Amino acid sequence: VTIGSASPLHQSCRIPVSLDIGLYRTHLLPASTPIEELVQRLNSLQPNFLRGFPSLLALLVTEQLQGRLHISPRIIATGGEALTKELRQRLRAVWQCSVFDIYGTTEGLFSAECSFGGGMHLFEDLGIVDVVDEHNCPVPDGTLGHKILFTSLFSFTQPIIRYEISDMVTLDPEPCPCGRPFRRISSINGRSDDILYLQGRAGGQVAVHPIHFWDVLESCGDIRQYQVVHEPDGIHLRLVFQEGKEGMASSVKERLAQQLHAQGVCCPPIHVELV
Ligand SMILES: [Zn+2]
Repeated sequence: VTIGSASPLHQSCRIPVSLDIGLYRTHLLPASTPIEELVQRLNSLQPNFLRGFPSLLALLVTEQLQGRLHISPRIIATGGEALTKELRQRLRAVWQCSVFDIYGTTEGLFSAECSFGGGMHLFEDLGIVDVVDEHNCPVPDGTLGHKILFTSLFSFTQPIIRYEISDMVTLDPEPCPCGRPFRRISSINGRSDDILYLQGRAGGQVAVHPIHFWDVLESCGDIRQYQVVHEPDGIHLRLVFQEGKEGMASSVKERLAQQLHAQGVCCPPIHVELV
């Protein structure tokens, strides 16, 4: 079962369609389906393989723990959003299953983890991946790039040559113990578009990577979902807490302010909205 986009243009819809070659029963459930209905469908389908966006799988973990969802997938694949270490551990703990992360783009860049789990192998027979700095110069494997330039080797209808993707990745310089020759993405550190530029205490602007927000928000197990929006009047933090845990909001705000202070920024006002 894939829980993905209902749009045939989106990878999360196209991949399950291409997997439907008659060997397995495949189902695509739109991610926009109300959660109660998803739970009902999954309970009746009892998937062996479940693929979805991490944020949606996190909601399903809660449904399973609270006794409404009763599934036992053997394999979970995630994609479309960053899979955090914390969520990977929760998925494994709740379903005792293997978790594979997949990273790809609609333009044809694909990568997926192998069973060794040490990063995602790029499908380098389908495309050329250049990890480059701000000036489009290649960075060596093992160094965090500013963006990716991707050239597709199979898209003949619409040629894609050195197409810019703003994801910031590091490639592993070492070969994988599984023996596959394709290089691995060892980490995806968000998007260069996601970096916030805040006023520095020593003057000028400080680039604040989203990882500083993740550190605070992901380590608080009582937050179910969050959104960070940078507005002219400060940072708006929209938080969805587990029921009854809303009182944690002020300590989350305080920890975030400390984290930003440690980056040398003049901390802007943080407005918390409980959703
Ligand atoms: Zn491997």
